[in-house]
Amino acid sequence: MNGELKSVSYGKRVIDYNLFYVDRKTLEIAVHPDGEIIIKAPVGSTLEAIERKVLKRSRWIIRQLNYFNQFNPRTPERLYIGGETHLYLGRQYRLKINNDIPKCVKLSRGLFQVSSGNNNDPMVVKKLLESWYVERAFFQFNDSIDRCWPAFAALGLTRPRLRIKRMKKRWGSLSKNGIITLNTELVKAPKECIDYVVTHELCHLNHHDHSPEFYNLLERVLPNWEKIKHKLELTLV
Ligand SMILES: [Zn+2]
Repeated sequence: MNGELKSVSYGKRVIDYNLFYVDRKTLEIAVHPDGEIIIKAPVGSTLEAIERKVLKRSRWIIRQLNYFNQFNPRTPERLYIGGETHLYLGRQYRLKINNDIPKCVKLSRGLFQVSSGNNNDPMVVKKLLESWYVERAFFQFNDSIDRCWPAFAALGLTRPRLRIKRMKKRWGSLSKNGIITLNTELVKAPKECIDYVVTHELCHLNHHDHSPEFYNLLERVLPNWEKIKHKLELTLV
């Protein structure tokens, strides 16, 4: 999809957006996780009117951009030094690094306490944190499947096995042989967002595509899925 590239200034920031004219009555603004802003405007609207509406929502747009920046594994260069914040289940925790042995990561009193075993090398801290995330992801995702599963068990489906993996472009997938793969990074999102992704993938047990039947099932199992999706602003490509 290629729209017209436009931009407006808001304070010191420039908001670049992709503009599409579509057959609809109201203007729609979507901020994608990769930072792309898509504006769908009713055919015939003037650029001036569109800009006015974009400016009106600009605080929200910037908030969304900042929000996705935290999740985006590609953008923020994490330094793995003390004082930096890292996410877990939708909350930010500050890094506190000490040289204690044995090496470990603990989440306590609102801090990520990293014992780096006499080595302050950010790569050591990074590795410790990453394996902590993998461990927690496995636990949290299994928990999420437990929470989401009853609605699907009732349909006589077989519970899939969980696999976790760092993925660049998607939060989850479901293979034909019954393995649900979830992106390790998802453990940084709030629990309801994890449940949304899990529910979406579980719906694929019954419908392998994104057909209307698929959405009917999703709607039935998780009526407010769109709101949660919006929170995570997923683009499952
Ligand atoms: Zn899907």
